[in-house]
This record gives sequence, structure tokens and C-alpha cells, in this order.
Amino acid sequence: MMVVPFASKKSELDTLLEKVHKFTTRAERAVIKKAYFFSQEAHKFQLRKSGDPYFIHPVQVSFILADLQLDYQCICAGLMHDIIEDTDIEKVFLEQEFGIEISSLVDAVTKLSAIKSSNSELSKVNNIRKMILATVKDGRVILIKLADRLHNMRTLTFLPESKMRRIAQETLDIYAPLAGRFGVYKIKWELEDLCLYYLDQNAYQQIKETVSEKRSARELRLEKILLAVRQKLKNEKIKAVVEGRPKHFYSIYEKMKSQNKALKEIYDLTGIRILLDSVQGCYTTLGIIHNIWLPVPGRFKDYISVPKSNGYQSLHTTVVGEDGKHVEFQIRTRSMHVVAEVGIAAHWAYKENKRKDANQENPMEEAYRMLDNIASMETGEENASEFMEELKENLTSREVYVFTPRGDIIALPRESTVLDLAFRIHTDLGLKCAGGKIEGRLVSIRTQLKSGDQVQIITNSATKPSTNWLNFLKTPHARNKLKAWLRKKSTSEIELDKNKSKEEKEQIFEKHKNLILKNSKHRKKKSLEKSPMVLWHGESNFASHYAQCCTPQLGDVIYGFITKMNGISVHKKNCNSLKSLMNNPATRDRVVMLDWSGYDQTFHATLTVEGTDRPRMLLNMVNSISTAGSEIIKMEASSLPNGEFKNVFTIEADSHAHLQTVIDSLKAIEGIKVVTQTDDQVFSKKKKA
Ligand code: MN
Repeated sequence: MMVVPFASKKSELDTLLEKVHKFTTRAERAVIKKAYFFSQEAHKFQLRKSGDPYFIHPVQVSFILADLQLDYQCICAGLMHDIIEDTDIEKVFLEQEFGIEISSLVDAVTKLSAIKSSNSELSKVNNIRKMILATVKDGRVILIKLADRLHNMRTLTFLPESKMRRIAQETLDIYAPLAGRFGVYKIKWELEDLCLYYLDQNAYQQIKETVSEKRSARELRLEKILLAVRQKLKNEKIKAVVEGRPKHFYSIYEKMKSQNKALKEIYDLTGIRILLDSVQGCYTTLGIIHNIWLPVPGRFKDYISVPKSNGYQSLHTTVVGEDGKHVEFQIRTRSMHVVAEVGIAAHWAYKENKRKDANQENPMEEAYRMLDNIASMETGEENASEFMEELKENLTSREVYVFTPRGDIIALPRESTVLDLAFRIHTDLGLKCAGGKIEGRLVSIRTQLKSGDQVQIITNSATKPSTNWLNFLKTPHARNKLKAWLRKKSTSEIELDKNKSKEEKEQIFEKHKNLILKNSKHRKKKSLEKSPMVLWHGESNFASHYAQCCTPQLGDVIYGFITKMNGISVHKKNCNSLKSLMNNPATRDRVVMLDWSGYDQTFHATLTVEGTDRPRMLLNMVNSISTAGSEIIKMEASSLPNGEFKNVFTIEADSHAHLQTVIDSLKAIEGIKVVTQTDDQVFSKKKKA
């Protein structure tokens, strides 16, 4: 080792940069440095339970990730993994500074932390593992979380005894199995040994002493076996590394428990591992070993031709040694060995031959496929039972787990929509719900939720709950709340015709048509000649008369009032008595828009459109107006704070019915909350040819 005289102690940052030097570019290291200082600053005033500066923790987490040779985004996220949760820095800010990939990793790790917080309905171990698997979409999130837990476990001694035990138990129940599921055995074993240390110190110490006993009979026996194998392989000219593999303490502990043996009776505290250059070499070596010693029936496993679901590959065999005692062998190639140690991390890990291998698949894709494999359980792995059962259950689960913007988790039945969630959070939120935002994307109230979605509910005071909602609401809770509201509403609130939806207009038409249709009996006396030719709801077959107050002329913008006895009275738009009918709650639902029948007329109507802005919003609006057969005369667009917008269109339509089509098609656009008709006037009138 080179010793630099008078050199000051190497800084933590230097250590980190040294660890990542081999597999990062200069530019990537610059980002890591930035993340380092950023995190240091953010945690400046926090202390750990040990009294050390808090920043030590994220740095150690980044060391663990660097040792797994993970990509720089992962290491940056490790450095900043507690920032969103523990400081007042928000995700948007991280995104501005470090981009969407790193900020999303940090955000996802933060969400995972929310899972552990014992939300009473979700506190069961099974549920927690289930949820973690259901919500994680990027395997790196698991790796960061595991590194986080590993460092916390290494420094658990500073907590009170009861808390220490609780965390150790949680780690043993949740995080160690997860590490195994993802093939990160290196972390799994260390976690398990640490758990054993905190949960059963006596057993831990006893095993530790026994394993470290030098020159024991057990050790001499192992030396003899190693020597025999090395000699035999050398004779066959097979290049291999043959080494003793100390078993981790927890697996010895489990063996003692499951076989009910004392420590002294367990001979194979060490297994033997043989690493080779080729798959062929593995099988040849296996043959050689079976030639020297007798294999134990049922203990040979070929995970090379049938890898475990987490990607693990190796040959396993147990043979009977000369003394009649068992010896376990693991035989695999070097690259299989990397996967055996770090599992899913190998997909992101630096590979020596990375540059040579141009056809190498995108690591993300490989890792996703692996997550898929884990989820679809295609292999016949022994021992998989319990965990796989849970997983299976999860995949066919009737529930989805979604996060609120605050990180709370809410379980909903499968196929639940944004609107269901809104009602679940609060009835008022449901009644005012205008849509949602999932991972920054605007979605409609009908959008079905997936596990892991972080959903923000968008409300608008102009939202009008309707019976249509019952067509897609999934949860009984939301349906009941909506029905209760609709019942109440039908007896009180009445609105202006022009702001009503198509369906609501339909209802009014049905309700009142018998009053005014020409064939209804009390209308027979009215002469047809006196009736103006007007259309309501596309119908002309009803009794009508010009109101005396304003005497509309052919082509004026006209509204009608449904009278109790005299059909519809036709008013000009500006008529004062029409206005008072409109303003009176008792009569205003009987004010309707009319069109002239048999006359072409052109309206200029002004529509105010409000909603949440997004890319191509304007284009969508313009398209929908022209698809509805209307022309835009004038347009004013203005952006409001909070990403909202307000556009005022002056459009040309040839009837109120046509205008309604335009309004409806605008309302159907995702993100649009209100469309109000603020003015209408006749631009030109001409008799139909
Ligand atoms: Mn942490």
C-alpha cells in the first residue's frame, strides 16, 4: 500500500468517487458530486440517534450502492433518498436540479417508506410485502431501499431495546425476504445476520465463536477436501477457483432450529464453491466430484439449465465425505457468481465488457423482464411456496394500492377510478372532482387506478355530479354518496338551460313536452298559423306564440319559456321579462334555447373555456371546434397560475343546437373543466333557399 506522508484523512466524497471511478464518466461523477453537496446542505442541521451528523447515513447508503456498482442515477438517489421525507425540499425542485430520472427514484423510495408506517389496516407483514411488490416499477428503488435498511440495521444499537427488536423483526419479515426475491443475497445474508444479532444475541455469539475456531477438526477436514478437489481439477487441466464458503450465521441458526441439532452436531458450517470459466466446465467439474464422492440423492439441483426466478444460476450438490459426513458444493461460472451475489443489481452494474458488447440489452429492459419473471413464477423453485403464494395472490388481488400526494396509501377494489378515490378521501372532494393527476399526467375522472399510482385529485367548483357517474363508479361507498347527493339535488337546485348538459336537457324536454306538444289536448284550440316556426330541442311539433313583451323578429336570437297552459312563449334574448324569468329560481328551469326553423342563421357565440393546461391542449380545442363543424372567429388565450388556463373563443354556429354540439365536444376534452357561453348574437340572417 502506498502511504502519502502528511496527507490529511481521505474525505468521504473522495472515497465515494474512488468507488465509482471505474464505472462512471467524468460528467456522471460531476452529478454525483453535486448530489453529495446538495444532500449535505439539505441535512445540515439534522442529527442521527447516535449524535452523528445525519448526512453520514445517506453517504453510507451511497457506498453500499457504489459497491454494487450501480449506475450514477442510483448513487445520486441514494445520497438524496431522505431529502423529500426529512427536509422541506420538494420533488419538483429535485427534478429541476437533477432531472426526472433521479427525482423519480428518490420519490419512489420515499413512497416505499410510507408503506412501513403502521397505517392500522395495512400493518400486516403480508400486506406490506405485497404492496411493495405491487408498487415498485423500477428495481433500483428496491436496491436503494435495501441499502437504506442495511445501513440502518448496522447502526441500530443507538435505539432503545424495544424499538431495536421491532425493526429487526420487520427486517427479517420483510426486507431480507425481499432481498432474496431480487437475488441480492449479499444484502440478504448481512441483513439476516444482523437480525439474529439483535433478536438472539446468545445464539449469535455462540455461532460466531464456533465458526471462528481455528485448527478445529471441522477445519482440517475442509482443508483435506479442498486439496483433493484442486488436485483432481488440476490433473484434468480445468482452470478453477476452489474455495471454502463460510455459511452465514442465520442459515446455521435456521439449520439448528429446523433439524433440532446442537451447534456441535452441525459439521458443514462451511460449504465449497467452485468458480469456472465456462458452463461446460461446470458440468465436467460436477462429474469429477460425483466420481470422487457419492452424491446424496435428491440434493442435486441444476439451476444452470433452470435458473431461479430471481436469475440465480448454479449447480448444487451434496456428497458424502470419507468420514460419512455431508459436504455441500456450489459450482458456477464467474458471471453467474456476480448474479448470485447481487441479483437484480447485476442488470445495472458495471460490466467489464460493456463497451465490447454492443448488442447488450438495455439494463432497464432486462430488469423489467426479471421483475416480470419474479411476478409470473415460471420456475419450479423449491422453498418458494409462501412468498410465491403471496405474490400470486397479489397479482390476482382484488385490490390496488395508490398513494395520495402526501404519501398515504389507500387500498381500493380493482378497477376503481379517480372518482372512486376522490369519494374515498372525502365526499366533497368526490362531488367536486374534475379529474386527476397521475405522475404529473392529467387524467379523467373515469381513469382506472393501478397499484403504485400517486394520484392527485383535481377539483373544480363548477363540477356537476351526474347520474352518468354511476356507470363507472366501482366502490359502493362512492355510489352511495353520489346517489344521496343526487336525490337531494333533484328537489332543490335548478339551473339555467344553457349551462345544462345534453342529458339534463333531455330530461327537461321529456318532463315538459306533454305540456306543449301540439297534439296535447288543451293546445288544440291554438291556430297553427299564429305559431312562429321555431325549434326546441330539434322539435317543431309544439305550440308556441310570440311573447307580447318583446315581439321577436325572424332571425333574432330567441329563447323560449315553457308556460303551463300556452305552450312556449318566444322571447328575444334581451327581453327584460325573459331575464326576470331566468333569474327566478321557480321559473328558470323552464327557460330554453330556441332556434328558427327553416332559416339559416349564423351565430357568433362567445365561449369561455377553463381547465388545466397541458401540451397540445390548445390544438385539441381548436380541432374539436372544427370537427363539430364550427369556425373560430376570434380567440384569446390566457394562462392562469397553478397551470390553469382560460380561453375565450368567439365561434360561428348556425343554431343553438349546433352551438350545444360545440360546447359538448369541448367539455369532452380531458382537462377542460368549464365551458360557459358568455354571449351570443346573430351575425347574419338569410332565408333558406
Ligand atoms: Mn434513510
